[in-house]
Amino acid sequence: MGDYDILFEPVRIGPRVAPNRFYQVPHCNGLGHLRPRSHAAMRGVKAEGGWGVVCTEEVEIHPSGDIAPCIEGRIWDDHDVAGHRLMTEAVHAHGSLAGIELTHAGLDAPNHYSHLTPIGPRSEGVLGGTGFEPVQSRAMTRRDFADVRRWHRTAALRARDAGFDIVYCYAAHGLTLPMQLLSRRHNDRTDEYGGSLANRVRFLRELIEDTRDAIGDDCAVAVRLAVDELLGPAGITHDGEGAEIVAMLAELPDLWDVNISDWSNDSATSRFAPEGHQEPYIAFVKSLTTKPLVGVGRYTSPDAMVSAVRRGVLDLVGAARPSIADPFLPAKVRAGRVEAIRECIGCNICVATDPKGLPIRCTQNPTMGEEWRRGWHPEWIPERRTGADVLVVGAGPAGLEAARALGQRGHRVQLLDARPEVGGRVSRESLLPGLGAWRRVVDWRVGAIRELPAVEVFPGSAMSAEDVLDAGARHVVVATGATWRRDGRGRSTGAAVTGHGLAHVSTPDDVLDDLESGDWRLPAGRIVIYDDDHYVMGGLLAELLAGRGHQVTLLTPAPLPSYWTQFTLEQERIERRLRALGVQVHTRTTLQYIASDHVVSESLIDGEWTERPCAGVVLVGDRAPSIALHDALVPALADGRLASLRLIGDAEAPGLIAQAVFSGHRAARQFGEEIDPDAVEFLREG
Ligand code: ADP
Ligand code: SF4
Repeated sequence: MGDYDILFEPVRIGPRVAPNRFYQVPHCNGLGHLRPRSHAAMRGVKAEGGWGVVCTEEVEIHPSGDIAPCIEGRIWDDHDVAGHRLMTEAVHAHGSLAGIELTHAGLDAPNHYSHLTPIGPRSEGVLGGTGFEPVQSRAMTRRDFADVRRWHRTAALRARDAGFDIVYCYAAHGLTLPMQLLSRRHNDRTDEYGGSLANRVRFLRELIEDTRDAIGDDCAVAVRLAVDELLGPAGITHDGEGAEIVAMLAELPDLWDVNISDWSNDSATSRFAPEGHQEPYIAFVKSLTTKPLVGVGRYTSPDAMVSAVRRGVLDLVGAARPSIADPFLPAKVRAGRVEAIRECIGCNICVATDPKGLPIRCTQNPTMGEEWRRGWHPEWIPERRTGADVLVVGAGPAGLEAARALGQRGHRVQLLDARPEVGGRVSRESLLPGLGAWRRVVDWRVGAIRELPAVEVFPGSAMSAEDVLDAGARHVVVATGATWRRDGRGRSTGAAVTGHGLAHVSTPDDVLDDLESGDWRLPAGRIVIYDDDHYVMGGLLAELLAGRGHQVTLLTPAPLPSYWTQFTLEQERIERRLRALGVQVHTRTTLQYIASDHVVSESLIDGEWTERPCAGVVLVGDRAPSIALHDALVPALADGRLASLRLIGDAEAPGLIAQAVFSGHRAARQFGEEIDPDAVEFLREG
């Protein structure tokens, strides 16, 4: 430990004492009220991994603040207490404190489940859901203020009874009534809750006082506040009203939890914000209060954590994503195994499931959300049942994870890859602009495999079926990945693009080859990128090419460029960046055919065809699974030369890196186990 001792100092928070400075701040997870046992197990694992404080996600205090279909916590009535108690018991079992983030979402709540009327500072279109829901709020009356205060107070009492140690009053992310009332954009009231800042702060102050009055002797009262909305003068700023609010309420709560809003700013991806990115906004807070302070910034490095504490920026190091990627981060620091930390890559796949009401998943940690339903632990896997050796072909994320986890179970593993270095698609994609941190998917697994003498790695080993059989392998896992289709077939067109065979037509693999080799072969001038994939690749290539001096036209059938990145909170940033780089974006547009010096596109709106001159074309469509090796081995399985053969990762079905890692992990867990193909392989609740 030594250098990191400071992180293990206890911190008093009102009537409670956090055992260390590792603080898992509230984060969504899609388990919540619908899957309380899954939720409790997930939080319990964080406590087991050493997080001194473990919080819930936002917890709705009343059906009039219902944000379904997102699955958060609920503490609407006594019926909900038992589910929360599961979590507090799981957290307390490891000596950690449990926190609950009480929420009335106000303007953010479309109330699609409860069908109650949304309430807010004024009558306006509800902000939550898609952001475009045909629902308006009712302006709150005096009675409404009294009602919400009473619901919050009752919820705090229930939270105490459920065993929570820290109870939040939540005014961040634009997601809650107290923050909406703070905001001049939403609050133009003329009564005692509107106008001056003191009036706009009134409701938050009342909630803090009510909560303290109800449970303050037993529980710590925390405030979560957005001190900057990154909207300049139109919003709360850290050197304006953000600081004034902290000054007004300075000693009222037992704990300040501060961040920047909205969620896309708070949970910015690594493509757009580095570790510690919130420090410039939150650094002032400690000068205004003697109360302990927690803040976030995707801290994965204990050195950065120590630095933030020593410089007086933070007292408690807050983490959502770093605790998702590695629930055992604190335990590893304590054990002096810093290199074993599975660092968050900042991709926001964990975030992407939330608006869909689905259980959380993580690119780095395939056990996230699976603690209860599959009984998966992030650090521990049951030992092997058989003494079998395994040969894994392909060392991308799927093959690396399969080999690592098989090795952890005690199997002897040979991991082979045709390329001179391991990492597959991740090694290549992490060369794209802003994706450097994605390499951690490879680096962590390579590091873990180094600790496993029974796992041998052989790069530069292109394997045919004969090679595999000659090697004497009886058990083979095929993780040979996928390549981008040359014909541009994607989900919208469903057919090859005419002209795809012309010499000036490339795929993302060609561009990645050039990036790796340094031999840039794309013709100078305008390049048309046709994105029928809709995740990051099309936008990344546009950014890359524009940065290298090409003029770029991006065509996509989707209504927005990089459409799916809405769910990773990146879409607006990507579009802004493309515009700043001068990329011409045409949405709802399909590619009809490619000619030698132009393409012809069709508008999905009016069917109009447009000729677009260009020097080159990059087709970003579907990917083709590389299954030739697997298929060539199938006869050997049939005639008994192989005892088992399993296809995993992108070779089975191209998808997210998260799915490839999961697929490799699942294959390793299931290896040698008796699996009933007709049984659901995980528990269900709800
Ligand atoms: P995944 O995401 O499923 O892990 P990747 O495409 O990232 O897939 O990785 C697949 C890896 O498999 C690549 O590094 C590739 O070089 C390797 N590979 C593909 N075919 C063979 C083969 N026949 N022999 C050895 N390695 C192979
Ligand atoms: Fe980090 Fe990505 Fe895992 Fe989220 S999904 S915790 S951003 S690695």
